[in-house]
Amino acid sequence: MRIVIVSDIHSNLVALETVLAAAGSYDALWCLGDTIGYGPRPNECIALMRQHASIAITGNHDLACLDKLDLSDFNPDARRANIWNGQQLSAENRAWIEPLPALVRIDDRYTVVHGSPREPVWEYLLMPDQARINFALFDTQICFVGHSHVQLGFEIDHSARVRRFLPESGQTLELQTTRFFLNPGSVGQPRDQDARAAYAMLDTDTNTVRFQRVAYDIGKTQQQMQEAQLPLALIRRLEFGM
Ligand code: ZN
Repeated sequence: MRIVIVSDIHSNLVALETVLAAAGSYDALWCLGDTIGYGPRPNECIALMRQHASIAITGNHDLACLDKLDLSDFNPDARRANIWNGQQLSAENRAWIEPLPALVRIDDRYTVVHGSPREPVWEYLLMPDQARINFALFDTQICFVGHSHVQLGFEIDHSARVRRFLPESGQTLELQTTRFFLNPGSVGQPRDQDARAAYAMLDTDTNTVRFQRVAYDIGKTQQQMQEAQLPLALIRRLEFGM
């Protein structure tokens, strides 16, 4: 089975459509949260997830847009964009996104969570020491995470050594018997100095995951953001991948 893994779409419809087209044929899609917030097309992005995602979880920005998190935890630009995103939502889309859980243990092999097992909505899993602690807090072989907007992974081997890796686009990782945290990166607002949309493709037959980047029409998203009068800093950052 080929499963597309997407995270942190952030209402960037142009990036999401480009990713779905690039992914080609697939059997399932898992969405790791922060579908909305920041960007210009929250309803359209939720509609695509309603149509395609077999598994979807919530993220901190989703909760903030729904007014379920204290907006003072966000910087002024993010807060303004979250309020705007929340105001746009149709009743059906709100009803779909509101009850999403923060963590799902899919089966004996896979867990998905936005941040980390320790702090499902808030922790940025970026350093090996954090990963080591979190490896003890879930019981499947693989845990997919989002939230940091950085495409990366952590592997813990049988001697409990933790290795962090930053994949190249197109790089395929064999999932063997060791355990992993895997972050597909952000579709709609990458922050790893690569402005291209990021996603991953899990192949459960070959037991591999492929990390991908795909260029999209950033200018088109920026224009949509301008029309919605979203904060300039959020518009500019897209072209720098940060
Ligand atoms: Zn995010």
